[in-house]
Amino acid sequence: MSDEPADEETESAADRPREMHPDDDPYVLQGPQPHAFWAESVAERILDRDPDEPIVIKGGISPSGVPHLGNMNEIVRGYFVAEALRDRGYEVRQVFTADDRDPLRKLPRKLADLDGNIVELGDVNAGALGRNLGKPYTDIPDPFGCCDSYGEHFSNLIERSAELLGIPVEMVSNTDLYEEGEFEELTRYLLDNRETAREVLSHYQDKVDDEYVPFNPICEECGKITETVTAVHPDEGTVEYVCTDMEAGDRTIEGCGHEGTATFREGKLPWRFEWPGQWQVLGVDHEPFGKDHAEGSWPSGSDVARNVLDVEPPVPMAYEWFTLDGEAFSSSSGHVIMVQDVLEMIEPEVLRYFFTKDPSKARDFSVEHFDLLVDDFDAFERTYYAEKRNGDSDGSDGDSATGDATDTDVTDADEKAAEIATAAYPPTIRPTLAARFDVDGEPVPAPEENSVPVTDGDRRAQLDALADERFGERVRLPYTFAAVLGMTDDPALREDIARREGHVPDDAPEWVTEFALSRVARAREWARRTGNEFDYELKRAEMPAVDLDSETEAALDELADFVASHDDPDEIQGEIYETAKRHDIPIGDFFSVGYRLFFDDEQGPKLGPFLAKLDDEFVVSRLRRDE
Ligand SMILES: [Zn+2]
Ligand SMILES: [Zn+2]
Repeated sequence: MSDEPADEETESAADRPREMHPDDDPYVLQGPQPHAFWAESVAERILDRDPDEPIVIKGGISPSGVPHLGNMNEIVRGYFVAEALRDRGYEVRQVFTADDRDPLRKLPRKLADLDGNIVELGDVNAGALGRNLGKPYTDIPDPFGCCDSYGEHFSNLIERSAELLGIPVEMVSNTDLYEEGEFEELTRYLLDNRETAREVLSHYQDKVDDEYVPFNPICEECGKITETVTAVHPDEGTVEYVCTDMEAGDRTIEGCGHEGTATFREGKLPWRFEWPGQWQVLGVDHEPFGKDHAEGSWPSGSDVARNVLDVEPPVPMAYEWFTLDGEAFSSSSGHVIMVQDVLEMIEPEVLRYFFTKDPSKARDFSVEHFDLLVDDFDAFERTYYAEKRNGDSDGSDGDSATGDATDTDVTDADEKAAEIATAAYPPTIRPTLAARFDVDGEPVPAPEENSVPVTDGDRRAQLDALADERFGERVRLPYTFAAVLGMTDDPALREDIARREGHVPDDAPEWVTEFALSRVARAREWARRTGNEFDYELKRAEMPAVDLDSETEAALDELADFVASHDDPDEIQGEIYETAKRHDIPIGDFFSVGYRLFFDDEQGPKLGPFLAKLDDEFVVSRLRRDE
């Protein structure tokens, strides 16, 4: 297990260091693992504990603002573990707690409407929101007016994100748990045993003194959460309180001074007890969480679970945060991307695939380099099918080390990739298949959703068979080629070029063609949003009018001959320079002619590499000015 960092232990916080139980080391993916695909290794840890079914996997966040892609770790990581367990025949419930009784501590600078459009705080009624600081999210009006509360609005957005990825999660409102009395018994127990609760937590938090009470009532007068409990009556199920100021980061949220009485349904447990309380109340077997929790509330939470509540904490899994185009996600500054936005640019299976990668490694989610992510996914998909074919033809279990001459070249990395694809591809593709094939196994002509959750066992089996058979015919256009097609508006022309370039076979069924070409609109949107080299309109249908002198015409003809026999991007770029030089044409003028011919524009992408990506036939005939 990893050692507690020494600087975590301040003098007052620990008379003696607390030893973490060996099962509670959250960095479960460090060191040797039984499986190549991390989710299978985690699933095995859960099964080692012989859990009751349904096995419960939890995630959760406060619905405090824009739920961005980083937050989706809480759902998608758990999904892959859930699927690994379902693949082993276990029944699994994936729950997601909206920690919506938490108080609003500061105003977010950006919000999002239910369609995922980001708006500035100033565009909603910020004044009304400001008056609600310190109140639970579920007691604050929805700034957009469409849901019952602020908390429900952002919970709905989280739920929608999961739906868009075809992940079956049960949303659980923490406020509902309190209001329905689910935490009552636990609260009474904690108050009865508050000495022990204090003792354990005092090793982790300095503010825990003799006055500390593990319950924060909601003030009946002003609606804010207060931390000042003056008397506890566990048998009566009430506490007395004074509504005092609450420290919230660098500011103070003022209390109203009211003195009152609250029941256990009229307040909340502090997070350090609420989280372990959720494990107990919901019977949680596994929960992934970010590094911040791994160093903070997990060590105390697992200790509280074992030594205060006397329950075993879930199998943990700390995940690394990822960055967005090289910078940390920030809801407050608006450096975020939502699932909705991502799915306009890449297929949902590609996004799910991103989360199959090792959670213990930090990585960047680079919108700018979506082409690389998609290429990576396409290779992953091909590996899966190659393994299937291997397995089918040699009758082995898919192990590629069968002694063929070619197999001796198989490296450890290839073998690992093959093992990961075999385990991770089915859960990655299932929701896509469920959207695209009906219960009779027939392709759905124009699917309304791109992903549909699957929990039914028969449907799962049917979709897995479809993946191995019919879906094996699917075609993926290379993403940058799809982006090139996206530079042409005419759908018929797009299809024509895709066929001419050999990406779509002549005998491809309708659904295969439609599926292949569906990538074009996404790649087009990627080009538009990033303003990259594909964000131009290619004038394929008609050659733009352009005045050329004879020297330029001769140069273009020579360049056409060169392109007809070369496809290296750098060589073509070099040849553009050389050709211009040979004909004494200023290089800027020659490029302008190129942009005019292809885009009817003054400027465009770096021409050589761009022409290399286009279909040769078109490039050559345009350089020759054939109509
Ligand atoms: Zn709403
Ligand atoms: Zn008050």
